[in-house]
Amino acid sequence: MKVRLGFVSNSSSSSFTCDVCGGTESGMDCCLSDCEMFICENKHTCCNSHMINNEVDRPEDDYDVEEKYCPLCNFKSISQYDLIRYFKSITNKNEEEICAEIRENCKSYAEFQAKYTIKGEK
Ligand SMILES: [Zn+2]
Ligand SMILES: [Zn+2]
Repeated sequence: MKVRLGFVSNSSSSSFTCDVCGGTESGMDCCLSDCEMFICENKHTCCNSHMINNEVDRPEDDYDVEEKYCPLCNFKSISQYDLIRYFKSITNKNEEEICAEIRENCKSYAEFQAKYTIKGEK
């Protein structure tokens, strides 16, 4: 899987997607602080509102925030990417194998949705 850097930049427009809530902020020449987001040293992109341990001191560099401030680095939240990584690792299956399994078990997307419901979700 391609590593997502959390931001794309072409010409002067950029956008950032939060790895915690999935919220996206974008704009012309918009930098992280304009979007009220930060990127941690493990390249997670998060809204400032999810930041933890920032009561006493705030990190100075929005693009290289220490692990201790990041909810994802501390497993307060888990990103979709990390959930998939965890699932692949415990099932010992790669993406192709999971795809093949889904194709085998479901004839249509509707069947997939009906079959694989998630605990707590409709
Ligand atoms: Zn967010
Ligand atoms: Zn992080």
